[in-house]
Amino acid sequence: MAGDCIFCKIAAGDIPGDIIFEDELAVAFRDINPQAPTHVLVIPRAHVGNASTLTEADDALIAHLMRIAGQIARDEGIEGSGYRIVLNVGSHGGESVPHLHIHILGGRQLSWPPG
Ligand code: 5GP
Ligand code: ZN
Repeated sequence: MAGDCIFCKIAAGDIPGDIIFEDELAVAFRDINPQAPTHVLVIPRAHVGNASTLTEADDALIAHLMRIAGQIARDEGIEGSGYRIVLNVGSHGGESVPHLHIHILGGRQLSWPPG
């Protein structure tokens, strides 16, 4: 648990989250402010910083999170229509929670480039 990290608290069950998947390494829950009909966050259970802070030691974890993201997209029924996986990094990236999280967004046509 890293200090006041809200995602550490959701992973630990200290604050509620709409959790749709969890295993020993990862937790997935619905975003509190969804930007699409499906908007799920996949996080490592342990505190890991943003994508810029990853090291070789995180390689297996990231692969695990990505596979779970794909599985969730299938479970949510958006695999066929398509979806987007997003990692926001830093200020210009729009990152607001400093605990690694993969956004899964789908269920509507998403525009490109992003705003
Ligand atoms: P970021 O902006 O860092 O890429 O994404 C953080 C996401 O976490 C945002 O989409 C925001 O709506 C979501 N979020 C922030 N606080 C909470 C919370 O307490 N519960 C849930 N479920 N989502 C949260
Ligand atoms: Zn954390």
